[in-house]
Amino acid sequence: MKQTVIKNGYIVSMNQSRQVFVGGDILIEGSKIIDIGSVPDEKIKPDAEIVDATGKLILPGLVNTHVHLSQQLARGLGDDVDLLTWLHERIWPYESNMDLEDSYISSLACCLELVRSGVTAFAEAGGQEVDGMGRAVEEVGLRGILTRSAMDCGEGLPEKWNESTDYCLKKQEEHLKRWNGQADDRIRVWFSLRTVFNNSDELIKRTKSLADKYNVGIHMHVAEILDEIRFAKATRGRTTVEHLDHLGVLDSNFLAAHAVWLTDRELDSFALHDVKVTHNPAAAMRVLGFARIKEMLDRGVTVSIGTDGAPSNNRMDMMDEMHLTALIHKGRHLNSKVLPAEKILEMATIDGARCLLWDDEIGSLEKGKKADLIIIDPVSAGSLPIHDPISNLVYSMHSNNVEASMCDGQWLMRDRKILTVDEGEVLKLARERASDIVKRAGITLPHRFPIVEA
Ligand SMILES: [Zn+2]
Repeated sequence: MKQTVIKNGYIVSMNQSRQVFVGGDILIEGSKIIDIGSVPDEKIKPDAEIVDATGKLILPGLVNTHVHLSQQLARGLGDDVDLLTWLHERIWPYESNMDLEDSYISSLACCLELVRSGVTAFAEAGGQEVDGMGRAVEEVGLRGILTRSAMDCGEGLPEKWNESTDYCLKKQEEHLKRWNGQADDRIRVWFSLRTVFNNSDELIKRTKSLADKYNVGIHMHVAEILDEIRFAKATRGRTTVEHLDHLGVLDSNFLAAHAVWLTDRELDSFALHDVKVTHNPAAAMRVLGFARIKEMLDRGVTVSIGTDGAPSNNRMDMMDEMHLTALIHKGRHLNSKVLPAEKILEMATIDGARCLLWDDEIGSLEKGKKADLIIIDPVSAGSLPIHDPISNLVYSMHSNNVEASMCDGQWLMRDRKILTVDEGEVLKLARERASDIVKRAGITLPHRFPIVEA
């Protein structure tokens, strides 16, 4: 099996004792790390690839726990509008006018941005065409959990999405059987629940039974906006989280996205049931909600970081999202000690892996784990000098400091060049497809300034 040795780096391992190896080496064979720290020469085969990482930082690949691959071509369609306009006039028309090939191109473009921002693993929150997403993930070489968006009720849904509970579940099972464990187990498939607005109680309960049956997780948007809580109370007699608790779906395989509007009791029940949370700071700021992340962490809830989709955030950039996460909660608590850099790095790596139920194989650099890692070049005008590398990673560095990315032992990017797909070609197709979809969907954006044809 092919060996790669990365030598003499500043390795932030994120292992159990959070060791940092200064001048450390990593020996990779096939898809796995077989040694780390100081690797003796006799373990290295003569034909091993040697990579000199002098002056570079090496980290576990970042884990983005809330992504919408198929929304990548809708970046900029939802800026400065309220949520209902966002959903009914922009995103639903966009998504419901996509075909399989659009979804594939959108996913490729999204995956490229993920790789460039240091992500090697992600969780998809629910798109329409799992086959398109799967193909893209397979080709780019990332690791991802895919889900199909599940909606069996709700107002204002496009005609095309009028699906019964049975159909929603049957389609998801089909995708699970087709894609779970594909691409050397880089691709896994979970169940999704879109929101309490669009999911019947029957769908929620049957989703839980199926997820348990297949031993996979459930990814759901939870308590995202205040209107959702009002809606849940009006239609179910309880808040979203109380209702999910009542239906018995809150569990260690439940990944709650956003979780902005939670009471103390609901936070306690998240901790009690070991519910996982993906915090999406930029997207949350859009709809003006401060998720109670410190309170979750104080209770021992596993919280990770996600970007959400391109029209909710515009930047699918985990380096930016780490920075934002650190800042927002300091501001909210008027306390600069809240969510320090080392906690942010945990959220973006090992805790993210835990949210993906994948921490036995990824999230830290350790013997026996998968070789999912990134190399960071700290030399840039915006990141020097480096008095404290861990803090610098969170507060100063940008995605353009990410120089190389490896997933499952395969290089996805070296010297900032994507190796697995033709990036120029993908971006060209993405532009063409994006304007075609917008035309087909009849979406028009108002001019912000007077336009003069010159
Ligand atoms: Zn989302």
